[in-house]
Order: sequence, then C-alpha cells, then structure tokens
Amino acid sequence: MSSLKTQYPVHWLTGQLCEDSRETMYRQSIKTRIRLETCVSLIVSSLIFGMFAIADYYLLGLSREYYLLLTMRIVVVSLCLLLAVIIWRWGSYSRRVWLHALPLWILATGIILIVPLRPESLSTQVTAVAVATMAFYLLIPNLLTVVTVASLYLSIGFVGSAIAFAEVEPMVMLRIALLLIMTNAVGFFALLRLESLQRHQFMLLHEERVHNQQLVAEIAHRKSLELKLRMIAERDALTGLNTRGHFMTRAQELLQQSIVNKTPFSVFMVDVDHFKSINDTWGHSRGDEVLTRIAQVCAHSLRPTDVIGRFGGEEFMVALPDTTADDAYVVAERLKKRVAELPLSDDMSQLCLSVTIGIAVAHTEETELESLLTQADQALYEGKRDGRNQVVMSQVEAEE
Ligand code: GH3
Ligand code: MG
Ligand code: MG
Repeated sequence: MSSLKTQYPVHWLTGQLCEDSRETMYRQSIKTRIRLETCVSLIVSSLIFGMFAIADYYLLGLSREYYLLLTMRIVVVSLCLLLAVIIWRWGSYSRRVWLHALPLWILATGIILIVPLRPESLSTQVTAVAVATMAFYLLIPNLLTVVTVASLYLSIGFVGSAIAFAEVEPMVMLRIALLLIMTNAVGFFALLRLESLQRHQFMLLHEERVHNQQLVAEIAHRKSLELKLRMIAERDALTGLNTRGHFMTRAQELLQQSIVNKTPFSVFMVDVDHFKSINDTWGHSRGDEVLTRIAQVCAHSLRPTDVIGRFGGEEFMVALPDTTADDAYVVAERLKKRVAELPLSDDMSQLCLSVTIGIAVAHTEETELESLLTQADQALYEGKRDGRNQVVMSQVEAEE
C-alpha cells in the first residue's frame, strides 16, 4: 500500500490524485455511474424531505407556519427533482462538478429553514441534520471538497438558526455543536479514505489494463515475427516455391504415406537449359523474372497434392504422390511443353526456353528420398548430355 501511495499520491485533504491527468481519467471513468447514483440519491432524499410535511401537519396543524413550511418543502423537492433531470441529461461529473453540488446546498437550506418555522422540535431536527450530514458524505456521491463545504454550511447554518430562533440553553447548544462537529469529522475522514482507496483501486486496474494491452501487442508482434521467420524458412524469396529444406520435409511425409498405403511415388529434378546465357544476354534481373515465370508455370501444371521446391539456382524438384512411372512421364512432358510455350516479352522473343527433367520412381519399401533425388539428378544429367530439352526416366526404374 505504501508503494501505491508513493506511485499514485493523493492529496491529503481532498483525497484526489495529485496528478491532474490521472484525476481527469478517474473522473472520466466514473462519470456514468456517478450521474446515475446522483440522480437516484437526489430523488430518494428529496422525497424523504418532502414526506416530513406529514410530521409538520401533526405538529403545526393548518397554520401559517405549516403553509410556509409546505411551500418551502415543495420548492426544495421540485428544485431537487429538476436538478436530477438536468444532471441525468447534462451533468457530466468530469466537467460540471458544481451542478452535482447544487442539490446539497438546496437541501441544506431547506433543512436550515425548518428551524425558524418549527423551533419547538429542535431535538428531532438535530437528528435529521446529523443523518443528512452523513448522507451527504457517504450516500450522495460527490467530491470530498464539495461535500465538506455543503455539510459545513448545513451545520453552521443550523446552529446559527437554532441560536437565533430557538430558545436553547447554552450547554445544550454546545452539545449540539459538538455532535455536529463529530458527525462532520467522521463523515469527512470516512469519505477521505474511501476517495483515496477508490482512486488507488482505479489506478491499479488501469495499470493492469495497460500491461495487458502491452502484452497483447507483444504477442501480436511475436506472432508476426514468427510468421515472417517461418516464411523465410519455408518459402523461397524469389520464386515463392518451397525452400529446399521445407520441400524435403513435405516430400518425406508424402513418401512415408505412399509406403504405408503401398501407392506409387515419383520425383522430378527440373533444370532450365542454358540459363546462364539468359543472364549473360538480358541481365540478371531479367533472368530472375524468367526463373519466376518458369516456377509459376511448373507449380500450376501440377496437382494440389504434388509438392514443388527450388533445389537451388535454376533447378527445381517435384514430389508426386500416387503417381506411376508412366503418369510421371506424362506430367513431365506436359511441364516441359508449358515451359517451352511460356509467352515472353518482345525483347526476349528469340529466346527458346526449355527444361530438362529427370524422373525417379520409388519401387521398393526401403526407398530413401535422398537416393530417389540422386537417381532423378543422374537421369537429368543424362538428358543434358543427350542434348537437353527432354524427359529422362532414371535407369534404376527402367531396369525394374
Ligand atoms: P545447363 O543447360 O547445362 O543447365 O546450363 P546452364 O547455363 O543452365 O547451367 P549453369 O549451371 O552453367 O548455369 C546456371 C546459371 O544460373 C548460373 C547462375 O548465374 C544462374 N542462376 C542461378 N541462380 C540464379 C538466380 O536466382 N537468378 C538468376 N538470374 N540467375 C541464377
Ligand atoms: Mg543447373
Ligand atoms: Mg541449367
């Protein structure tokens, strides 16, 4: 609690937060609740005040004093009810504090005015003033300073009125004054404690909310970093295809499934023919463009269940689950044809794009992905030796 007091100090006399911005934030946070509570308290207390007209009647009968008292009570009740409506509609607690103080002054004036009109019932009125003072401090939600001033006005006004209009012995008057001082002191310190406790509670909640927001932002930041890292690890920056590492993971899973399900499994190694001369003739960035287009056309020529990755440079690899050697050959030929038909910009019109593809098919349950890719690579280089722009089936498979 002591650290709270030093972290969020409150004024020793008003119970308000010393820092203006914090106090404004606190009042802003309670304004709706305070508006409602003020209205309810105002309606209840003014109605109770009005109901004392019955006691007046039994004490005074239909006398001039009774009618004066009744008029005063009607004025006070009407003003309080009117203020309840005004506060409900426009009484922003954070901006119009004086509006919330006004009913206290009206009620206090009403109570003080009873003394000259009904001086003989002073003892009852002392109780009423003590109760009203406590109600001001504790029940009518308001600022401590506002309540204190209104309560002191009530007490001093009541004592002054009693001295002037009721014939009371000095000792009795002293007892009444002491009772009211005590009531004010208890009310003041109770509300002071309540005000500062509520503000500390609010600041703690606020602090927690800020921490939570920071935590949520941190989590979002970490998630986006995680996503970026995963993208970097899994996606090739130039072509958007799987990186070699991610391809190996996914292809390994597909091969495993094929072994379990006893279904055929094929792989391709695809290499762009004479790619170096594209770079040399049109520049490296145009070479990048061509490479990206080839990657796209390859990816679009495959089924969604197939997996394609960039092996490195101008070489790609493909894993085709549930694909026999014959089917793989057909797919590879289609892929080769689509690359050859790839439309290029005018300045590259004389370029004849082609790829050479090596195929390997898993034919035993012990087949390793690495050895399958090596077989496909060997078939690919055979195709290169034989003049490029062709599809070559691995010899290991052919022997099968
Ligand atoms: P071959 O028909 O025998 O495959 O001939 P090639 O020219 O395609 O093969 P080689 O291995 O001699 O050259 C490959 C070239 O691909 C060399 C390298 O500069 C280029 N290359 C590799 N990665 C990239 C890339 O990301 N962008 C570009 N523009 N070029 C690349
Ligand atoms: Mg190459
Ligand atoms: Mg090449």
